[in-house]
Amino acid sequence: MKTLIEPFKIKAVEAIPITTKSDREQFIKDAFLNPFTLKSDAITIDMLTDSGTTAMSSKQWAAVMDGDESYAGSRSYYKFENEVKNFTRMAEIIPTHQGRAAERILFNVIGGPGKLIPNNTHFDTTRGNIEIVGSTAVDLPCEVGTKPEVIADFKGNMDIEALENFIKTTGRENIPVCMLTITNNSGGGQPVSMANIRETKEVCKKYDIPLFLDCCRFAENAYFIKQREKGYENTPIIDIVREMFSYADGATMSSKKDGLSNTGGFIALNNTEWAEKLRINLIATEGFITYGGLARRDLEALAQGFIEVMDENYLQSRIGQVKFFGDLLLQAGVPLLEPTGGHGVYLDARRFAPHIKPEHFPGQAIAVEVYKEGGVRCCEIGSVMFGKYDENGNHINPPMDLVRFAIPRRVYTKSHIEYTAEAVIEVFNRRNELRPMKLTYQAPVLRHFTARFDYI
Ligand SMILES: *Cc1c(COP(=O)(O)O)cnc(C)c1O
Repeated sequence: MKTLIEPFKIKAVEAIPITTKSDREQFIKDAFLNPFTLKSDAITIDMLTDSGTTAMSSKQWAAVMDGDESYAGSRSYYKFENEVKNFTRMAEIIPTHQGRAAERILFNVIGGPGKLIPNNTHFDTTRGNIEIVGSTAVDLPCEVGTKPEVIADFKGNMDIEALENFIKTTGRENIPVCMLTITNNSGGGQPVSMANIRETKEVCKKYDIPLFLDCCRFAENAYFIKQREKGYENTPIIDIVREMFSYADGATMSSKKDGLSNTGGFIALNNTEWAEKLRINLIATEGFITYGGLARRDLEALAQGFIEVMDENYLQSRIGQVKFFGDLLLQAGVPLLEPTGGHGVYLDARRFAPHIKPEHFPGQAIAVEVYKEGGVRCCEIGSVMFGKYDENGNHINPPMDLVRFAIPRRVYTKSHIEYTAEAVIEVFNRRNELRPMKLTYQAPVLRHFTARFDYI
């Protein structure tokens, strides 16, 4: 059989809002032409993010009911710890309420003024938590990773040569940790190869710098290694995952992704001295060491989620669904960041709407129009999110204008994907009608969340 199917059937359903085009025109006008500020009741298909939007399985819901809400020493914690140890093989497991809490605690303990933290590409909360403590976040992506039109297997890789040069020039004493984000979210959900993880570790070892994985999508990364890296074709996913973690000294995780749950995170590490300091910070800010800001029932859902996420049938359908969506768009000529990554499809807005200058927000114009067309919500990642004005009022454009369709895990069926592709293709076919936009309001930081727009 060649047809890819969802390896689950549906036991509970949730109605999604079905709206008319004139409803949607009013809704997006009321939202000042910013899909971020739409109410979810106005959205038919929501591809704003894959974070915390997973559908849980019947086994997870059953586990939730079985949660032990003891403040200290909850058996739900030990189940969670056991599962995290099973794939990380690390000694110290510290739960947090989501990924950024893990980052905040880690950098409060090991960061500080003057410190430098290299990574293939820092996710924005990671960068934020590093900068808040006075340290500097440094991105060292491999060269193909910055080129949307180049097709390569492991565009998420670290630039190993650049990493070694960086350590030599800045001095290892200023680098408390080196990170590697798998998959590389900001780079388009692109995977990192096992060889690259190994080589990163070798450089770190040479200079005695611990390596931490930002492992939000560890299972998706492992599946790409199995598909694309020589020697892993027949290796079980769990063994690939364990090998990935075997090169690391620690990890931070947002379990809202590959925890197949709606919240959660953790820090895992082997250094007991660091772990003690991290736990003191955890108790002061998140909660006791056996729940870290989570309800214990959430730990139950996560323990089961970590088992399910490494199921190869699940991963095949997950990564296959993202590719299926990308292929529908490519067949219609829609320009994408290629190849499609693990958790979403990214349109290249500058090639999609070349008549709109980056400072007039081509990605935003596309996102608004796709919403009007089909009630589909996606996310601009370009001039709105990363652009800013200089002293003379000129707009400084980021290197790329992308529109991300992040696909929630186990939520949408093949027909939902086909419907979404149809909406995008409709807009693409009348792309000449897309109009340049201007900001009418922007907050001083993180403006994309609340920005207001009008057409020029
Ligand atoms: C989502 C994410 C984070 C932050 O996690 P939250 O749970 O949203 O706080 C950190 N790193 C990467 C790569 C992510 O995708």
